Amino acid sequence: MSSDPPPNRVRLSTHSSEFSWIDRVADREQQADLGRSGSIGIGDDAAFVPTHASGVLIATDTLLEGVHFDQTATPEQIGHKAIAVNLSDIAAMAGSPVAATVAISIPRQMDVQDVDRLMAGLQATAHRFNVSVVGGDTTVWDGPLAVTVTVLGEPGPQGPITRSGAQPGDILYVTGPLGGSLAGHHLRFEPRIEFGQQLARSCALTAMIDISDGLASDARHLAAASGCGITLDAAKIPIRDGLLGESRLQHALSDGEDFELLCALRNPGQTPPWLVEVGRCTEGGDIVLVLDGRTQPLEFIGFSHSLKHEE
Ligand code: ADP
Ligand code: MG
Repeated sequence: MSSDPPPNRVRLSTHSSEFSWIDRVADREQQADLGRSGSIGIGDDAAFVPTHASGVLIATDTLLEGVHFDQTATPEQIGHKAIAVNLSDIAAMAGSPVAATVAISIPRQMDVQDVDRLMAGLQATAHRFNVSVVGGDTTVWDGPLAVTVTVLGEPGPQGPITRSGAQPGDILYVTGPLGGSLAGHHLRFEPRIEFGQQLARSCALTAMIDISDGLASDARHLAAASGCGITLDAAKIPIRDGLLGESRLQHALSDGEDFELLCALRNPGQTPPWLVEVGRCTEGGDIVLVLDGRTQPLEFIGFSHSLKHEE
């Protein structure tokens, strides 16, 4: 016979009194008061979100304990990261995020206070970006913590900015320093929503992607989608403070989880001070790095999730 878990532990139940932490999630939504008029949020079978645009952007991402964070991360940091990775994807399409859902699989022994802190951290970031949490799903299991967030957004007046619009001659830029994200940046980065929208307002923007796998990999993704090559200039790549030694450049190219934007501009003219030029788009499909005056192929480096049988 199974015994009841202690009262401060999460348990899966359909009795609403035991879901008081979800009530607190709903309370925080009420306090933030971001819901659009006519919208339906937490508490019904499905959420309803009126949108103004003729289409919606949808981004979804899962964070797994042991893969995307470890036990040193605070619950608030996990909550922040779970929504911020999705906001970064909306930023890369130059959209405005509107609403989010949260599906959380909770280890049976996790303190309910920690679930509450995770959701509070997630909602704090959501509300800072005018996003309401309109629903979700909760399961309890014997596995590790898993959090899946889906964010809905509206494209800007220019429509969604894809990875595929770059052409030879376009100049490539990033929005901030790269590398060393594991030292803490990956848990507290700011999604570049404002930058994405500002870039789209400058009509020179042709393609954009957020740097989640590392500059080397994501430059390759942009090049492949656009059907062009890319030349990166090692001397121009901005590297995060605190990275030392000969491998600094390698870290900037391949650590991943920088969550800066990589974008292509055509005949850019004057650019904002936070944009750093890193290279250009070229004819053909080669991805190369200019280092100390020598041009060399940029090996496929960067973090990628490969299945066991693919290794
Ligand atoms: P249902 O059985 O109809 O799916 P649930 O009992 O799973 O409803 O959820 C009740 C309400 O709480 C729903 O509005 C759902 O969207 C919301 N909800 C459940 N889990 C979460 C969560 N982790 N974050 C935000 N809202 C949640
Ligand atoms: Mg449900």
